Amino acid sequence: MVCRHNRELEALVQEAKKMTEKGKVADYIPALAESEKNSLSVTIYHAENTCLSAGDDDQTFTLQSISKVLSLALVLMDYGKEKVFSYVGQEPTGDPFNSIIKLETVNPSKPLNPMINAGALVVTSLMKGQSAKESLDYLLGFIRRLANNPEITYCKHVAESEFRSSMINRAMCYYMKQYDIFEGDVEEVMDLYTKQCAIEMNSLDLAKIGCVFALDGKHPETGEQVISKDVARICKTFMVTCGMYNASGEFAIKVGIPAKSGVSGGVMGISPYNFGIGIFGPALDEKGNSIAGVKLLEIMSEIYRLSIF
Ligand code: GLN
Repeated sequence: MVCRHNRELEALVQEAKKMTEKGKVADYIPALAESEKNSLSVTIYHAENTCLSAGDDDQTFTLQSISKVLSLALVLMDYGKEKVFSYVGQEPTGDPFNSIIKLETVNPSKPLNPMINAGALVVTSLMKGQSAKESLDYLLGFIRRLANNPEITYCKHVAESEFRSSMINRAMCYYMKQYDIFEGDVEEVMDLYTKQCAIEMNSLDLAKIGCVFALDGKHPETGEQVISKDVARICKTFMVTCGMYNASGEFAIKVGIPAKSGVSGGVMGISPYNFGIGIFGPALDEKGNSIAGVKLLEIMSEIYRLSIF
């Protein structure tokens, strides 16, 4: 399907773009600091064959935390709720995504949800495959089916940059290993996790994946049930309660749709009116969400009455 540039949407992008001045690109993963701070793009992909976009929509970006919801979907389908939720909880934390504090203060030392780094690391450690390479290929195969795009792969540069600098994530893995929550080899899982986070796509791919969730796991183009209905429902619920980190409550009030963000500046939004939204705007607010991306969703939600509440 051809995605058309849309004038009305472009005006909203220009309005939201003003916010980029107040944001900062992530630099704790050195390669992300190279992003163009002022860019903003959006694609809206509707199941009944309409696709609208605005801004610099040919830009690609890495998924970062958005990948957490996709790895969760796959692991939940492979092992079922009972097993997965014996490793990771279902509650928001109110802490930043990379916080280690609750691992010590909450007993048993199990990460509170799969959208924070500690929880996502455990989920990734459960991914099927005999080696990190096999698991990555397995996950990539799933994501290619979700986006219906066989070209999708990961960005080596970003993956290596995070692998070299990701000491807090390593610390969390070791902490959980002490309490038998984390069973894998830390370096192997870090290798897989950093490549998972570095999976790269554009806003159209992301919007299409959002649309799969909107359709309860059924692909709008291929008709394949890529995610089971129940797992799609669980993922969307996590996106509402924890998808925008410790700003999820405010986001639910201001925008009111399931969404997941990543520190690259990507945001995936899902509307029950059968469409997915893919946004890329690398300038972040202090919680690590795309500052202009959230603004754009806020404006869109108000104009088109998108809130599910
Ligand atoms: N790869 C990033 C990390 O683990 C993902 C975090 C994010 O996007 N919030 O720090």
